[in-house]
Amino acid sequence: MNSIERTNAALDLKEYDHVSPQPQIDVAYAAKLMGVPVGKAFIDEKIHADALNNVFEVHDVDGVYVNLCLSSADIVSQEFRDGAYYVKDVCGATWTVNEDDIGSATERDITSLDDERLFNMSPAIFAAVDVYKGIDQKWRDEKAIVVGVTGAFSHVVFLYGLENTMMAMVLEPEKLKEVIDARLRFALENIDKLADAGCKYLWIGEGSASGSLISPDMYREFVLPYQQKMAEHIRKRGMRSVVHICGDINKAIESVVTCGTDGIDLDHMNDLATVRDIAKDKMCVKGNFDPVDLQEWSPDKIIEVAKEKIALFPNNKGLILSTGCLVTRDTPKENIDAFVKACL
Ligand SMILES: [Zn+2]
Repeated sequence: MNSIERTNAALDLKEYDHVSPQPQIDVAYAAKLMGVPVGKAFIDEKIHADALNNVFEVHDVDGVYVNLCLSSADIVSQEFRDGAYYVKDVCGATWTVNEDDIGSATERDITSLDDERLFNMSPAIFAAVDVYKGIDQKWRDEKAIVVGVTGAFSHVVFLYGLENTMMAMVLEPEKLKEVIDARLRFALENIDKLADAGCKYLWIGEGSASGSLISPDMYREFVLPYQQKMAEHIRKRGMRSVVHICGDINKAIESVVTCGTDGIDLDHMNDLATVRDIAKDKMCVKGNFDPVDLQEWSPDKIIEVAKEKIALFPNNKGLILSTGCLVTRDTPKENIDAFVKACL
C-alpha cells in the first residue's frame, strides 16, 4: 500500500498493511526542519508550502497537516518590531506572530453579536488553499495532505473572542446560534474551495470546543450539529475528514463520534482503548501521543510506547498512529524517525 491507500483503508475502517505513521506535522516543526523561522512561514504561503514539501524529503511519514495560517492576500499591513510581526488582516484582526512561532489573533474589532461582519465577512483565516496549491503535485498525489478547515463554532471564537463567545452561550444562546449558522455558510464555502483545489483530506478544527472549555451539553448544542453538516458536505464533495478537538473530550466522546467525520484526532489525555471501543464502527482513531513526550523522550522509549498503542488495534484496522495535537517545533528529527520506524 502507498500512503494514500493506507490512509484511506484506515479512515474507511478497512484493513491496512501496517499502521500509518502520521504525527501531526504542521508549519511549526516543518519550518524549523527546513531552517526557516516559523513566523516567517506562518505569514507566507510559499515558504509554508516549501517547508511541508521538505518534510517528505526528510521523513517517511504518510501525511502532514496544513494548519491555520496567513496568506499574502489576507494581509492589509504588517510591521516587524521587537522580534515579532504585527499583522493586520482583511477581517480587522491583528495577529501577533513571534519570529519563530505560529501566530494568534491578539486584537479584534468585533465586540458585539450584532456586528454585520459576523454575518457577511468572508474569513481571512483561509490561506490553507494557497498553501495546498504550493505543495508539489507529486506529494499531493502520493501523500495524505490533511488541510485544516475551521469549524463554525471556532470561526465565531476567532472573530468574536473566546470569552465573549462563552458569555454568549449563557446570555444570548439563540443569537449566538444565528451567528454560528452564518459562519457555517462560510465554512461550507471554504470546503468547496478546498474541494475545487483538489484536496482529498480535511481536518475540521474545533480547538475551541475542548472539554476543558465547554461542557458536553454545550458541545451538543453549539458545535455538533454544525460539525455534522460540515462532515456531510465534505463527503458529498468526495473528500475524507477528521475532526480535531484539542484536549480532554472524555465526557463528550459519545457525541463526538457521531459528528460524521471519518476520523478523530484524539489528544493524549483521552484513553485510547476506551475510545477505540466507542468509536469502533463509526470512525478511525488518530492518536494519541502527547506532543511533549514525542519531543522529550528517547527514540527507544517512543518506539516502545508506539508499539503498545499499535497493539491495541490487533486486526490492522481503525488506527492511524499520530500525535494528539500538533508536533512541536523543537521535536528532534530522530524522534520522528523512531515514530515512523515503530509503524513499519
Ligand atoms: Zn489540537
